[in-house]
Amino acid sequence: MSNTRGKSVARGVPGAHGQDADSGARVSAAHGRGSGDFVFDLRPLGRHPGSFRDETRTALVPVDLGSGLALVPAGAEVALDLRFEAVAEGVLVTGSAVAPLTGECARCLDPLTTTTEVSFQELYRYQPDPGEDEADEERFLDGDWLDLEPAFRDAVVLALPLSPLCQEDCPGLCAECGARLAEAGPDHGHGADTDPRWGPLRQLDVSDRIED
Ligand SMILES: [Zn+2]
Ligand SMILES: [Zn+2]
Repeated sequence: MSNTRGKSVARGVPGAHGQDADSGARVSAAHGRGSGDFVFDLRPLGRHPGSFRDETRTALVPVDLGSGLALVPAGAEVALDLRFEAVAEGVLVTGSAVAPLTGECARCLDPLTTTTEVSFQELYRYQPDPGEDEADEERFLDGDWLDLEPAFRDAVVLALPLSPLCQEDCPGLCAECGARLAEAGPDHGHGADTDPRWGPLRQLDVSDRIED
């Protein structure tokens, strides 16, 4: 009891204590719920081709998706907006997912937070055709259950930006001193300190130098 009260007081105070409490909460959320959030019960849909159901749901991402400059972090809330449609060979899922994205600006290395929206259409089959090899990229239902997580994961990883930017026209960092040019301003430069004779050398590729 007294612990809980102490935490909420600390959270109200700006500074390191508040941040600790927040990140602790995020970690426990990530461990508390799993991929079950992405599993759908198809019994209400039935198997009659042509029947469909719309479903929206908020799901928690079980593990970090992506890496490096941009990822959807574990524990993030994903808004799913889906249509399940029964077809002859299985269930067609069409929909979109909106997920928070955290990362680092590829030019100025500032942390950034944004959202990503992916849309997908996936056929989950009841079972493989007789005599057919089960290809890896095919998806199958588990009885009346559909696990959307692998399809969601593939769609997110494909949609992640290779070079996320904090803003469209981020000017990046000064090549000379590493100053953030968005703050340093357009007049920032080192004209007097730069020997013009270095200019041609700077344009050489590293690969050119290795071949020499
Ligand atoms: Zn930037
Ligand atoms: Zn500079």
